[in-house]
Amino acid sequence: MRTALFAFAACSLALPVTAEEVNIYSYRQPELIQPLLDGFTESTGIKTNVAFVNKGLVERLVAEGKRSPADIILTVDISRLTGAKAAGVTQAIDSSVLSTSIPEQLRDPEGHWFGLTTRARIVYASKDRVREGEITTYEDLADPKWKGRICTRSGTHVYTLGLVSAVIEHNGVEATEKWLEGVKANLAKAPEGNDRAQVKSIWAGECDISLGNTYYMGAMLDDEEQKAWADSVRIEFPKFASNGGTHVNISGVAMTASAPNRDNALAFMEYLASADAQSIYASVVNEYPADPNAAVSDRVADWGAFTPDSTNLADIAENRGEALKLVERVDFDG
Ligand code: FE
Repeated sequence: MRTALFAFAACSLALPVTAEEVNIYSYRQPELIQPLLDGFTESTGIKTNVAFVNKGLVERLVAEGKRSPADIILTVDISRLTGAKAAGVTQAIDSSVLSTSIPEQLRDPEGHWFGLTTRARIVYASKDRVREGEITTYEDLADPKWKGRICTRSGTHVYTLGLVSAVIEHNGVEATEKWLEGVKANLAKAPEGNDRAQVKSIWAGECDISLGNTYYMGAMLDDEEQKAWADSVRIEFPKFASNGGTHVNISGVAMTASAPNRDNALAFMEYLASADAQSIYASVVNEYPADPNAAVSDRVADWGAFTPDSTNLADIAENRGEALKLVERVDFDG
């Protein structure tokens, strides 16, 4: 069953109030979530309507207020989920289904958002120039032995800020500032481009290691040109020296504060949290299911096992403002 894409302007008028449906604002491209939508409609008979919103999702909900047709927000990155909660456009959900299937560190302590898949922020290491086990911690990235050998994207990008926020949570602000200075001193060039561009730089011999999200390995392998970049590196899972975990971020779901189809929205969230749905979702996007008991795709499993950081993502997200300040103070991108 195909899901209708509805236009923002017309949607509130076009939606009959009695229909069994759920309206989703998705930061994720519709084709990535289509298998989930189909599975949900098949098992419940509830129709799904998706609006793809790649920018200003929270602003949109704020502007629409109580008249918003949206029931559900599907997005990526902890900062977007905590930002939606802070803006008052989400509501707390008390569901034993959700709280049993989603690990505590991957959901809001007050029930406003739930992680569905995780992506680790890892090191892509040159197969030729970096020995296995040569990089084991995030703290290592500031070691002068990596001088002129690291590539990374901008310090102000949400992925970098997420990692810096986690470093603050583990090591404190002062140590994090020193660490950032150390990493900056090791950069092969000023931060530029996305995660895949850094791997391309490794392939081209401009640097030996880079920071990136795990799923980009999958994206590169699926691309004719980028496959060579992917083949030039392997994934290393750095840990925090303090607790031995690797930094992860999430894609997740929240119910809007004004959800007109609350019961259907809850059914959708509980469906997404099932181990099967998490597995389907994770395999389509080359990520890890939030539930450790849900199956990981063979391709993603091939990249190696790791222990995710057990720190609650909500605590990490609280350091976001401080992280940005540090990145600017050390002039990371300069
Ligand atoms: Fe990404």
